[in-house]
Amino acid sequence: MHSIREKPTMKKLIGAMEGGGTKFVCAVGSGPDEIVEEVRFPTTTPNETLGQAIAFFQKYNLSAIGLASFGPLDLNTASPTYGSITTTPKPGWTGTDVLAAFQHTFNMPLAFELDVNAAAFGEYSWIPENRRLESMVYFTIGTGIGAGFIINGRVIHGLTHPEAGHMRLPHDLKEDPFPGNCPFHGDCFEGMANGPALARRWGKPAETLPDNHPAWELEATYIAYALVNVILTLSPQRIVLGGGVMERQSLFPSIRGKVRDLLNGYIASSVLTGTMEEYIVPPALGKRSGVLGAMAMARTLMEKE
Ligand code: ZN
Repeated sequence: MHSIREKPTMKKLIGAMEGGGTKFVCAVGSGPDEIVEEVRFPTTTPNETLGQAIAFFQKYNLSAIGLASFGPLDLNTASPTYGSITTTPKPGWTGTDVLAAFQHTFNMPLAFELDVNAAAFGEYSWIPENRRLESMVYFTIGTGIGAGFIINGRVIHGLTHPEAGHMRLPHDLKEDPFPGNCPFHGDCFEGMANGPALARRWGKPAETLPDNHPAWELEATYIAYALVNVILTLSPQRIVLGGGVMERQSLFPSIRGKVRDLLNGYIASSVLTGTMEEYIVPPALGKRSGVLGAMAMARTLMEKE
């Protein structure tokens, strides 16, 4: 454990990578306010992209690296393919062993986690008021939809990892004839509510639709359905909503109102009958939850070893 009297300059440098479907973010530092260097580059082939990340980290004398990747991932440490990407529709990346690529180069603790799980862990680890919570959920709603769940300070895994972005939601075809765009399920949550679904349903990019466009009312409805399912299942003490679609700030009050209406007073918690302004919130770390979460995971792993 670090002593709080330790000077910042004495802190060990940690590498952190957030590998996304369109871009990679890599950082070196020791915390959100102590970033030495941060770079981003587009996701191309596995060899080229992972090679760039490795070359970046090789410039530093690191103590540990946290690797967060888009998925789905094999997170089962007993599996022969632990550390690899499994069924991604992204061309060229299926079966990519992300962890092994780093193990070949770096002899140090390497944390490996799904990107949205890392983002959840980042919001939990670096934000003091979140650390007081027993349970919290982080949803990313952007090109893809996913959720990371923190219970008692740990990221939930299971058979593989939760895939709450693909849960089934009520879909009124009369009101919304869009069939959904998930290649696996059609009109699952992601298929109905990710950024590309918004663009296809309304014929223009989501960010060009004004706040009063009916797209946002429908979007808030689907997100509220999903949140209600999670509230009823896990009873989280806070729900963080990040990702590109959630940059539309007007979604927040709309989602809170719909969640309250859908729950209809059933759950006896003053949190759910109040404004929910502290309950359904944007990420405190902004767009950096993922890369800072990877850093937090590496720090945690380093402290264990
Ligand atoms: Zn799906």
